[in-house]
Amino acid sequence: MIDKKGLLIVISGPSAVGKGTICKELIKRNIENLEISISATTRKPRYNEVNGVNYHFISKETFESMVQQGEFLEYAQVYDNYYGTPKKYVIDRLSEGKDVILEIDIQGAKQVRENYKEGIFIFIMPPSYKELKNRIMKRGTEAQKDIEKRMKCAYEEIKQAEYYNYIVVNDDLYSAVEKIYCIITAEKCKLNRYHIDLSEFKEELL
Ligand code: 5GP
Repeated sequence: MIDKKGLLIVISGPSAVGKGTICKELIKRNIENLEISISATTRKPRYNEVNGVNYHFISKETFESMVQQGEFLEYAQVYDNYYGTPKKYVIDRLSEGKDVILEIDIQGAKQVRENYKEGIFIFIMPPSYKELKNRIMKRGTEAQKDIEKRMKCAYEEIKQAEYYNYIVVNDDLYSAVEKIYCIITAEKCKLNRYHIDLSEFKEELL
């Protein structure tokens, strides 16, 4: 029985809901064959971010030229910056049978959904409005006006949650990671991912 090509797992959710931390925890678990795609962005790095680890930090000119060359699987303008998923990296990993996580916004997820129906779409939901605002403020990386902007965007983003296959409420990190791990495991066991080969049985039994 042969498992087919890798799973494309799309994770979205409002700013500061904990998507990044959840993805890091998943990677820490060293789940066999699971990789995370590193996006390109025109946003400036935050103090704790490293080029090539958190993002590929590139200029607007480079980003636009990559768009022209068709190098993105999807891309979008989020807040005031561009973000995009490098196409070649993802396609290569999937054909090697690796599972790839994309941590992207709702506009990007929509593009992936239109072009890659087999994707698994997971929306990370905050436990409440108040808790989301607390998390953005605690992160301390955004100016006050950006906090307001991100909260308004959160409202629009949560409205799109109905287009996803799964909702995971991030009230507790461990349990959110566990749920996503279970989703991935169950998706990998789906019948349509298998080609059932009985030739060995036939040879032995008949
Ligand atoms: P941040 O600036 O907080 O790292 O990310 C802002 C938003 O951009 C988040 O919602 C994040 O999921 C989204 N994002 C990150 N990388 C990509 C990408 O490659 N494509 C799209 N469409 N959104 C992305």
